[in-house]
Amino acid sequence: MDQSYQSIRIPTALALTAGAILMLGVVASAFASSAQTCMFKPMSDDDKPFGLVVGADILLPEGKMEDYGIHIRFNGSIGAVAKFDELQADYPDSAVLDCRGNAVLSPGFVNAHEHPAYSYAFPDKNLNPNYLHRDEWRLGVNDKASLPIPKRYEFQPNDSKQSAALVSMELRHLIGGATTIAGSGGVPGVIRNVNLHKRLGDSELYDAEVESATFPFSFRAVEELKEECSTGTPKNLPLRIDSNLNFMAYIPHVGEGRYSSCTARAEVTRYLQHVQLRDRRYSLIHGIATDVSDYVLMQNYDVTLVWSPRSNLALYGETIDIASALEQGVKIALSTDWSPSGSFNMREEVKCAKHAAIEAGIEISSEMLWQMSTINGAYALGLEDRFGKIKSGLPADLILVQHKEGDPYDSVLTATHEDILAAWVNGQVILLSEMLDDRLSNQQCLILDGVSPRVCGVLEKFNLSEMEFQNSVKDIVPLVDTTRQAPCEVPG
Ligand SMILES: [Zn+2]
Repeated sequence: MDQSYQSIRIPTALALTAGAILMLGVVASAFASSAQTCMFKPMSDDDKPFGLVVGADILLPEGKMEDYGIHIRFNGSIGAVAKFDELQADYPDSAVLDCRGNAVLSPGFVNAHEHPAYSYAFPDKNLNPNYLHRDEWRLGVNDKASLPIPKRYEFQPNDSKQSAALVSMELRHLIGGATTIAGSGGVPGVIRNVNLHKRLGDSELYDAEVESATFPFSFRAVEELKEECSTGTPKNLPLRIDSNLNFMAYIPHVGEGRYSSCTARAEVTRYLQHVQLRDRRYSLIHGIATDVSDYVLMQNYDVTLVWSPRSNLALYGETIDIASALEQGVKIALSTDWSPSGSFNMREEVKCAKHAAIEAGIEISSEMLWQMSTINGAYALGLEDRFGKIKSGLPADLILVQHKEGDPYDSVLTATHEDILAAWVNGQVILLSEMLDDRLSNQQCLILDGVSPRVCGVLEKFNLSEMEFQNSVKDIVPLVDTTRQAPCEVPG
């Protein structure tokens, strides 16, 4: 037997006294250092494309599977998905990472609504939940104080400060469990980015396309609809949508304002008329100004509601009628929105969603929250056949976390950075716990200040030294500390 494969399995539930740890340390020193959580066996021949078998509790679309395994192929895709023992027998030359009983393997989260170019900035000190419609904080209309819009950060290979900020934004989301973010901006080659290809070079940054729209009716909707809202005379304000792109999903911001905002309601009504064309995949970001009748339409016309409760509550003091939306069977995808008003990562959004639901008198199960963060996110983007689940043939976008006691969905949803064992995007290890074997990555893995898993093969891609990176990101939203994010408070 290969010596590196021998190890002592220690159930995480087992409480160890200091003395026991010391004794085990002596015994285990003869074996692989990853003894506690996972056992590692390298490939039988480093130069051959044998891939990696990972064994864990695995969250598949059809449910949680114990003692299961997946084969990550050398080309970065998910190969066979089967019982661990069968896989090991089928792929005797593959590397093996056996974390059964101690870890949960999940598809990475799909964050269907971000604004990556701005999502390095902290909330403004004047952020408050008293806005009726987003035009009030964006433009200062209705005598409300406007909030500053952060400078747009673009990836430019020779601008190390902006590159570092964008790399940090993507790593922050990956540490928070997401392997995909949708929205304009970002950097190529870290997390998976999704947005419309508009310019040369976009195909390197955006791995898949959606038509997203932040201003689907007007940049100044309150002003445009002023007369309609005061006199009831309908205004012709058509949806800005490219009908030549109906092979991809359309995902606009609609009804971003309180239910009592006439403008926000008018946007929702117009949009839910348009979706009845049924000519493409439609989603709806925010939709705070919605009610039961809208949820019936959304369910009928297969419109996914992209829900960002923290950002809703921080700006408008209310969010969707989550109880009614779920009761009507609306598909909901959780997403962070941007850092100036939203969650700093997907796990924080899950926390906020849970809280908002409890305040609304319902409890959303962990499995459903996980679905809202994975499969439903991909569905909102019309890309559910491309990623968002563990399935043979899809890219290996995966997160592996320690299995705390109880529900494996909870382990994935509530993991801290210290619980992360590994994260893969397209089969490449980007985060790797110090407990796991270095050979799981063929790149250099670095320890960044205050971050538990090592970060592999990222900084060198952007010619950033560790020091340069740390200096460039010290004033922006940090990688793991979420204390300065917007509050998730439901007004009493
Ligand atoms: Zn947004």
